[in-house]
Amino acid sequence: MKTYLPPKFLVERDKERCIQCQVCVNQCSFDTHYYDAEDDEVRSHEENCVGCHRCVAFCPTRALNIRQNPLDYKDNYNWRPGVIEDIYKQAETGGVLLTGMGNDRDYRIYWDHLVLNASQVTNPSIDPLREPMELTTYLGRKPDRVELDPTSASLKTEITPQVKIEVPVMFGAMSYGALSLNVHRSLARAAKEAGTLWNTGEGGLHRSLYQYGDNTIVQVASGRFGVSPDYLGAARVVEIKIGQGAKPGIGGHLPGEKVSADVSLTRMIPQGTDALSPAPQHDIYSIEDLAQLIYALKEATNYTKPISVKIAAVHNSAAIASG
Ligand code: SF4
Ligand code: SF4
Repeated sequence: MKTYLPPKFLVERDKERCIQCQVCVNQCSFDTHYYDAEDDEVRSHEENCVGCHRCVAFCPTRALNIRQNPLDYKDNYNWRPGVIEDIYKQAETGGVLLTGMGNDRDYRIYWDHLVLNASQVTNPSIDPLREPMELTTYLGRKPDRVELDPTSASLKTEITPQVKIEVPVMFGAMSYGALSLNVHRSLARAAKEAGTLWNTGEGGLHRSLYQYGDNTIVQVASGRFGVSPDYLGAARVVEIKIGQGAKPGIGGHLPGEKVSADVSLTRMIPQGTDALSPAPQHDIYSIEDLAQLIYALKEATNYTKPISVKIAAVHNSAAIASG
């Protein structure tokens, strides 16, 4: 498709050095380089280049250089180049512009600047040094009233398993395979350090991370990857995932190339096979089916762990929850 966006990068090829080996043609995932057979020359569609420098690294003769295109726009505080280009891109693709790995603009990283607004606290402390406010949060169903044993002052009412977290923030779910083991390990360690919970996503829990079980939510999702008694037993919370979370489309697909020996062991699927997660859970078509899975997981974990259900925020959430 023709684009009206000027190229962000300029591809410079030193003709003296270029030996027409076409390594750059094969290495660029954005089809920037192409071989012109008529002229026996490698050329570039510069508008495709994203400036990753992969071709520069692979070029055997150091013939390539990628430079930022110095093209400028008229100064306008509201209509900055990024805004104009985003509008062009959205108009051309009809898509919503997304970036992976956080915001690509120079905005604050929110975890480091998180402000908790205590607007619902009836008596907020005036001097937080002398009257520190506690953020400890208990998750789990609470009884309408509790009874205490008058002699020992201990709790007589039996309550369902509760989970205590030090901050009212938990980590989102992302699976092993989609993420590397290093990322999963970082999340697990960070959750332990912050006194909260991280979430395995639907790809199972690597054996080396069982030690972080007290800070781990394990997911039971449509593909049932890695679900075993050990997996459930290692967790603090078991989460049933309905639908596909933040993934758009009709389900998840981890290509076979990413299913390495470790991923296959953790997910309990053959190495090198595609891991397909159907959009729905094929054994849940009613609230009763969901209740059955909840009770099966309670049985499997000896009624010691909270079983939570993750659903999309839809208009009939209350009906699903009451079921
Ligand atoms: S990789 Fe380098 S030498 Fe090979 S065709 Fe591309 S620019 Fe030329
Ligand atoms: S810098 Fe990256 S996107 Fe640009 S031509 Fe080279 S490999 Fe392709």
